[in-house]
Amino acid sequence: MKTALTAAEALRSILEATPVLDPETTAVREALGRVLAGPVVSTRDLPPLDNSAMDGYAVRLADVAAASRVQPACLEIATEIVAGGRADQPISPGTAARILTGAPVPPGADCVVRQEDTAREGDGLRVFAAPALHENIRKAGEDVRNGEQVLDAGTVVGPPQVGMLASLGRTVVSVHQRPRVAILSGGDELVEPDQSVAGGRIVSSNSYSLAAQCLTLGAEPVYLGIARDTPEDLERLLRAGLAADVLVSSAGVSVGDRDYVRAVLTKLGCEFRFWGVKIKPGYPLAFGCFPGDRGPLVFGLPGNPVSAMMTFEQFVRPALRKMTGHRRYFRPTLRAELGETFTKKPGRLHFVRVVLERVGDGVVARSTGNQSSGVLRSMTLAEGLLVFPAEATELRAGDSATVQLLDPEEFFASDRAGF
Ligand code: AMP
Ligand code: MG
Repeated sequence: MKTALTAAEALRSILEATPVLDPETTAVREALGRVLAGPVVSTRDLPPLDNSAMDGYAVRLADVAAASRVQPACLEIATEIVAGGRADQPISPGTAARILTGAPVPPGADCVVRQEDTAREGDGLRVFAAPALHENIRKAGEDVRNGEQVLDAGTVVGPPQVGMLASLGRTVVSVHQRPRVAILSGGDELVEPDQSVAGGRIVSSNSYSLAAQCLTLGAEPVYLGIARDTPEDLERLLRAGLAADVLVSSAGVSVGDRDYVRAVLTKLGCEFRFWGVKIKPGYPLAFGCFPGDRGPLVFGLPGNPVSAMMTFEQFVRPALRKMTGHRRYFRPTLRAELGETFTKKPGRLHFVRVVLERVGDGVVARSTGNQSSGVLRSMTLAEGLLVFPAEATELRAGDSATVQLLDPEEFFASDRAGF
């Protein structure tokens, strides 16, 4: 087992061991946010036939080409076609078909005159303006052609993709499985939020923040509960997590007397690839897997609430995105101007929780305050994570630096409509 890896080495080791999960079939109605496991090829034309884009009259252009307000073309209305109706009867010279939006265009008609450009008296129609050839007709297959590949493998299913799949007549679609993530918290001091904290107990907030992080990724958290600091209790709960795709355990992976997590997992067959990453917060991160893919990927996260969330963010999240079929694993980054000077010792890469302010076209980053790994408040305030490189000791006010954006949609949300 390696130790004291750089952040990049740790990430590489994790992603190398991370599989893309197999496809499964899901209902199109429930496919939002899933990633397509294969391409989607159409077996039909969309629209299926030439149809009218307007309420009006289907005519032969030759009959109305010279029409104007002063000299209207006079036609006989021979038939009426509604959306969902049939258009079997050809339009013969001198006649028109009343046609509604979405209705099939009858044979012989080569344009549709808008209702606004006509006047009707009984079966007689006067046309005051000539459309262009094919105007107001939506051609069969103009959206999608039969046999065409419409969606690529790796596409994230959003509302337009759901609509397209439905249009193609699909009720189910093949997507990558959602990773099941077993979450275990360990520590004699831990209780659930509705239990008493008398006697120095603390709430196992990691169980909740880590599960929430899974949910934002479309992964399925499976909460194993709180293990006491004994090898027996840890083993009992960890065994229950062996069927998951990923096992995330927080606390008990450091070098304390009661840090049994690694020993117990090793006993269960997990081979640890590394322990210890030169980052802050989150140094005591452990990662392992079971030989021959016979078990979950195992992340032993540090127990401190910020360290647990941060190591999940930097290392578990990319792995879950890979598993889910995403092609890009990482948060968007931007270059931000620093609103203050940051200093540290060399040796570890720091992820500094920052608030971000949009100033003109740029972004200014400032610390959220106390950066201690126990201060969860700093995570609640953070809009971004400033990457303070391992060997750097100072980033000065006014310099620009890389910031990972934690919630780009919220950050770029606007109080203006843009029109
Ligand atoms: P440990 O890794 O067990 O030494 O824990 C490091 C710190 O994280 C200690 O202060 C623990 O109380 C705290 N901690 C451990 N597990 C949790 C948890 N599930 N939720 C919140 N804090 C925790
Ligand atoms: Mg502990």
